[in-house]
Amino acid sequence: MPKKLVLIVVDGMTPAAFERAVEGDRAPALSFLAEHGATSTATSVFPSLTPVCLSSIVTGAGPDVHRIPHLVWWHRQERRIVEYGSSFAALRAAGMAQSITDTVFNMNQRHLGADAVTVYEALEDAGLVAAAVNITCYRGRHRHPPTLPWVTKAAYGPKRFFYYSLFESDRTGAPLAVRNRAGGSIDEYAAAVGRWLVTRDGFDFLAYYLSDFDYASHAHGPTGADDVALVRTDAAIGALFEAAGGPDAFLERYAVILHSDHGQTDVGQAARLETSLAGLEGEVVVTASNRAGQVYLLPHARVDAGELARRLDGEPAVEVTLRREGDEAVARRAGEELRFRPVATGWETSGDESLLDHPDALRRVWSALANPNAGELLVSPAEGWELTDLGGSHHAGGGSHGSLVAGDSLVPMLTVGIDPAPTRITEVAPAVLGHFGVEPPPYARPVAHVV
Ligand SMILES: [Zn+2]
Repeated sequence: MPKKLVLIVVDGMTPAAFERAVEGDRAPALSFLAEHGATSTATSVFPSLTPVCLSSIVTGAGPDVHRIPHLVWWHRQERRIVEYGSSFAALRAAGMAQSITDTVFNMNQRHLGADAVTVYEALEDAGLVAAAVNITCYRGRHRHPPTLPWVTKAAYGPKRFFYYSLFESDRTGAPLAVRNRAGGSIDEYAAAVGRWLVTRDGFDFLAYYLSDFDYASHAHGPTGADDVALVRTDAAIGALFEAAGGPDAFLERYAVILHSDHGQTDVGQAARLETSLAGLEGEVVVTASNRAGQVYLLPHARVDAGELARRLDGEPAVEVTLRREGDEAVARRAGEELRFRPVATGWETSGDESLLDHPDALRRVWSALANPNAGELLVSPAEGWELTDLGGSHHAGGGSHGSLVAGDSLVPMLTVGIDPAPTRITEVAPAVLGHFGVEPPPYARPVAHVV
């Protein structure tokens, strides 16, 4: 039997932050793993926003298959905004009750693509036991009644399922998750549950998601998060070691994949994408948040996506816009265009290739545009800019992510006992399944021509 496997996702940790952590003395658990494993970098998906990224990590699919397009999007069939938590103000603007239902239940039960297979579904179908702590992509086959009285519906997750105190497959004695977000109570909750799971060796595969680093990085910037959150993040990993009887004992029992879902970059300015498209009210819906925007054309729009792209020429907040035209994707920046489409040998392109000089950009853009829930026009902002959300909130003065640029897109990748290391976050689920000898779903299998 292969070793059991722990997947640790540290939200928003950049490769540079990871390097500082393992070279310094504030993160003994991360340093220990780095000493005993292989470190590299991998590429996120686009938009590089947590719901999109975690869905890709857990299913091995791009947004074209898993169908989660953004933190906020327009549901064409239901003709309404879906908001997964850009900010408190955005949740309120979208309708608090609906947004909570969308985030807690619908993202997994209704929005996550039916063709996508979660790693929990695949492993448990093969007779293994999967566990998930706090990770927002959790779809599995086990019904879990809510823990708190004001939550009324059950959720379907893996056998061992823990989600912010709302769903708990087992009584662990963990403190309430949301007591003090800024003080690190979410990761403290994860650590308490993780300690319980490792003490009992209660899984074959554990997805262990730590979100507080990203929260600190939004507020204090990707460098400032070191001082605020790194020690706590590391302690949440160290808690797993202690439960196993020490770091060496932990690695005797478990293989490890540790990475983040996306990077972060400093933001100094915020723009309102709606303002740039003024006069089109009733024809388009704009959904923007962090460093990614989408524009949806309503059925009676007199403009097309090409016209929207032209209107955004010269906007300082917009680095590049992206759209489909027939069987091609079109990237546009300040009047210049790049057209591309996948062919058997890779990509056929015409125009200025420097427009998409970002990590793995053609592939990521193609997948984002092929998502049936995505807008007709996607916006990747310029460095230093953020787009305000529905509630007018932004992180100017702090950090953010979502765009195609390298700082938002590259993540640290650390593997212990997993070879080769994933080079994209979409390769994590196939690596996990491969480790256990379980066949990955068809969309995640290696193909002769890799586009
Ligand atoms: Zn974030």
